[in-house]
Amino acid sequence: MRMFGGAIFILSALFAAVICILPEPEGFPILEYHQVTDAQLDPAFEVYNVPPDEFAAQLDYLQAQGYTTITLKDFMYAVRGYRPLPEKPIVLTFDDGYADNYTKMLPILEAHNMTAVVYVITNELGRPGYLTFDNLKDMQRRGIEIGSHTADHLPLTSLNKITQRRQVRESKIFLEWSGLEPICSLSYPNGAFNAEIEEMLREENYLTAVTGEAGLNTLATNPFELRRVHIRKPRFGLTEFKFRLFKATFFAKLKNIF
Ligand SMILES: [Zn+2]
Repeated sequence: MRMFGGAIFILSALFAAVICILPEPEGFPILEYHQVTDAQLDPAFEVYNVPPDEFAAQLDYLQAQGYTTITLKDFMYAVRGYRPLPEKPIVLTFDDGYADNYTKMLPILEAHNMTAVVYVITNELGRPGYLTFDNLKDMQRRGIEIGSHTADHLPLTSLNKITQRRQVRESKIFLEWSGLEPICSLSYPNGAFNAEIEEMLREENYLTAVTGEAGLNTLATNPFELRRVHIRKPRFGLTEFKFRLFKATFFAKLKNIF
């Protein structure tokens, strides 16, 4: 038994070593955040909040590493050949549409001259703890891309076709008819998607969609299967953040092998 454990350990170490020496994969990361707050959350949700000082330190680090934040509209401009991407792009995304994205996250972002994409659940807008429509309008005016996280945050793969379509169509139409600029991107609730849902998004005039799958993205990545790394509440500060950034590269290397 001990020998078996030893063999597994040696094989894993070898595998990790092989992954590390592979050439750097091409592509840029998309980070997935939720709340930026110091507030003590319910333990089940606690992993979803990054304290403001940690968030600021993460942005300092990205800036020092030479990253330039872009939106997913910028990504599509590059895919279609209108404008090139910056040298070292990165996308910061925020799911669920919490009020602190406006009160806490936005000022830190602007202090770093950075941009982001905020995905809102349209039926939660204006409820306690969530963004209001006026917040969205102001964020869009300040260069933030607003995207849909559907109307009710139900995992799309668990719904029938009619309900799926209502969830993606109504959230987009609601935001646009309320006076926002066109909504082009969607974040799949719970990361659940399939090829039929992608087709439906195309028909509903979405251009991009983000998943919960780790990895990097290039101009050749399917724009309805964009990969993201989840940035959880860090227990080990910036070291953990660097590790999560590395996770994107690691999975991109894995995909290059298999
Ligand atoms: Zn969500």
